[in-house]
Amino acid sequence: MTHTENLLSWVATANEPDCDFPIQNLPFGRFRPKGESGAFRIGVAIGDQVLDLSAACLVDTDDMNVLMAASHSDRQALRSALTEGLQQGSPKQPTWTKCLHPQLKVEMAVPCRIHDYTDFYTGIHHATTVGKLFRPNEPLMPNYKWVPIGYHGRASSIGVSGQHLKRPLGQTKVPDAQAPSLGPSKKLDYELELGFLIGQGNALGEPIEIVNAEKHLFGITLLNDWSARDLQAWEYQPLGPFLSKNFATTLSPWIVTMEALAPFRAKFERSAGDPQPLPYLDSADNRDSGAFDITLEVWMQTSKMREAADPAVCLSRSNAKQAAYWTAAQLVTHHTINGCNLQTGDLLGSGTLSGPTPEEAGSLLELTMGGKNAISLPNGEVRTFLEDGDTLTLRGYCERRGAVRIGLGEVSGTVLAS
Ligand code: CA
Repeated sequence: MTHTENLLSWVATANEPDCDFPIQNLPFGRFRPKGESGAFRIGVAIGDQVLDLSAACLVDTDDMNVLMAASHSDRQALRSALTEGLQQGSPKQPTWTKCLHPQLKVEMAVPCRIHDYTDFYTGIHHATTVGKLFRPNEPLMPNYKWVPIGYHGRASSIGVSGQHLKRPLGQTKVPDAQAPSLGPSKKLDYELELGFLIGQGNALGEPIEIVNAEKHLFGITLLNDWSARDLQAWEYQPLGPFLSKNFATTLSPWIVTMEALAPFRAKFERSAGDPQPLPYLDSADNRDSGAFDITLEVWMQTSKMREAADPAVCLSRSNAKQAAYWTAAQLVTHHTINGCNLQTGDLLGSGTLSGPTPEEAGSLLELTMGGKNAISLPNGEVRTFLEDGDTLTLRGYCERRGAVRIGLGEVSGTVLAS
């Protein structure tokens, strides 16, 4: 009933057709009024407003991780209370109106305390295109279609949308140079990803079976995995990415819950000829509805465009269901199969979600074929990689006939000089 198509809110902006945050969405974030220095509080986005959950007496904590660790039934009860109180005609309107803040007048934080961060590599079109650039004869490693590939990332450098990040310094080596040198990255890039946030964790030594995996997922955000390609090319063998990735990762401020995403699930299918997942990564529910039907977009505004008041331009668009070779449930189960314990607030990155065609690429590395083919912007500027002053924005939304569109909001970040 929380997804009913004709459900409207007394917050009028929530009923506008292209709104990311209708009453059917109700994502969680941490906010405080701009200019205040107090603790961030838990809020829910509704239209262009934020509802303060403790002021509305819906929670007795300011700690998002406590809310995320709540049982499934407690989360359902909170969602039902929000739906009831925010719908048109609710007797809560007079009191809850006083608990609203315009989104334009609040500052958002990283939506929860991120415990650990693992970045996966589920985008098979990304893996194939990038693999061709690095290893023309063997783009996909032989393990790719059997085991979800990932690496342990770094939580301390995760920021929230609006972040300004300094171009990283690092070691690079051009192929014909005798020795590497230290300098600002010349190949700074973004990666279009989803972030999966863990609600309840598991005990050390007790793997999460795939049939239970989604019960441990609280919700999703957009994630930009900033990447310094020149640092990456020199450092990545034999242990994988390190300083090319851990200088900044940016999240959207709103966690869209698994409950809100329920109408936008899609079949998980393997192409004919591809191996089926091993039994521990397979279930009827995962095959039936393990994927997410989420449209994803990349937008760019350069400093010149900003000065001329030119709007951001869309660089690419893809869909998570066509891009990801593994589902979120499979990532949770695989991550714990060795007994590794996930904790509330752990973040699992999907990997770059590029679609099957070149225009659907989720990074500049792919769009420019490693920097060989510059892309042209409407104002005549060209880009191979990101330049200082560029603002990069990721957006995501779900649309389906018979359901109300919901959005993930956006994550944006601006590159500063080294
Ligand atoms: Ca990545």
